[in-house]
Amino acid sequence: MKAVQLVAHGSPGKFELRDLPEPTPAPDEVIVQVQSCGLNHLDLWLEEGGLPISIDLPRTPGGEIAGRILKTGASVTGWHVGDEVAVQSNLFCGECEFCRRGDESLCLRGQLLGVARDGGFAEEVAVPARSLVRLPSGVDFDTSAALTLAGSTAMHMLTNRTQVHAGDWVLAIGGASGVGSAAIQIAKELGGRVISTGSTEAKRQLAQSLGAEFVVDSTDPGWPAEVRKITNRRGVDLVVEHVGGNVLVKVFDCLARGGTVVTCGATAGREVTLNLWPFFVKQQRLIGSYGRNRADIQATLEWAASGRLKPVIDSIFPLGETPQAFAHLRSRNILGKVLVEPFEPASESD
Ligand SMILES: [Zn+2]
Repeated sequence: MKAVQLVAHGSPGKFELRDLPEPTPAPDEVIVQVQSCGLNHLDLWLEEGGLPISIDLPRTPGGEIAGRILKTGASVTGWHVGDEVAVQSNLFCGECEFCRRGDESLCLRGQLLGVARDGGFAEEVAVPARSLVRLPSGVDFDTSAALTLAGSTAMHMLTNRTQVHAGDWVLAIGGASGVGSAAIQIAKELGGRVISTGSTEAKRQLAQSLGAEFVVDSTDPGWPAEVRKITNRRGVDLVVEHVGGNVLVKVFDCLARGGTVVTCGATAGREVTLNLWPFFVKQQRLIGSYGRNRADIQATLEWAASGRLKPVIDSIFPLGETPQAFAHLRSRNILGKVLVEPFEPASESD
């Protein structure tokens, strides 16, 4: 089977399209024939060697997988060849205290699919059966691959780590990104009044088309003041932040008293300096969010099936052009998700 493997870190890294032996499932695993796989900043970090964990190369990246079950391991029950599935990319043990209470995103033995083990930029991938989520009818593979990781991250941030109350002002950073585009839709559906940011007119227009009531230009250094103006100087109740660095610091300039910042990423920097005086005087909260639980993926896909959450797909690359897909994501000149499809569309009707 064909797989795209990262053989040397770099920016760009060195990839090879390889013919590998077909994977065989361990007793608790299934083999998924990958139909679509989303690309994420996590993949860029893997490519650059920028993750704070050691990685053995070669490695097949790709964590946002949708496909059909091709084989099942000897002890797998409840899943059958041909079932259409999404895969929870933050693999979990299912046995630790956090997994037992449904918080798989806190698993003590968590592993990232496509980082710690081979992922979905391949025709086939072996995954633990417990990481599977069934695709609801009406949700196709590309929709799933465009929402399973980034969309469920936003779902986890907005419905598990924090809450949106009707009428709340919600600031969704980067409305054209995977997390941002889902956060706008989820927050609005929950009754929030959404403000979003974008670095280009096209990105801001996309954010508005997804439900943002107001958009601000993130290239204007004074954008937090714009947000304060929009809210009549009050500030927003909730910020969905996934960039980190100076952006995380700036969002406190437009956060209301008693407001919450929830953050899940640090592409712009992992270390920040925060002025604690206004933070505790205004009784604000900064909440970390990591990955998602099974329940978040199920909710995300159910919302997609009912039309409440729409995928935003920038472009789809064939497997052989995976390196170009990485370069395209790195360019940041994208609107929504970049996907890789291992098979030509014609072969999907088999
Ligand atoms: Zn666990």
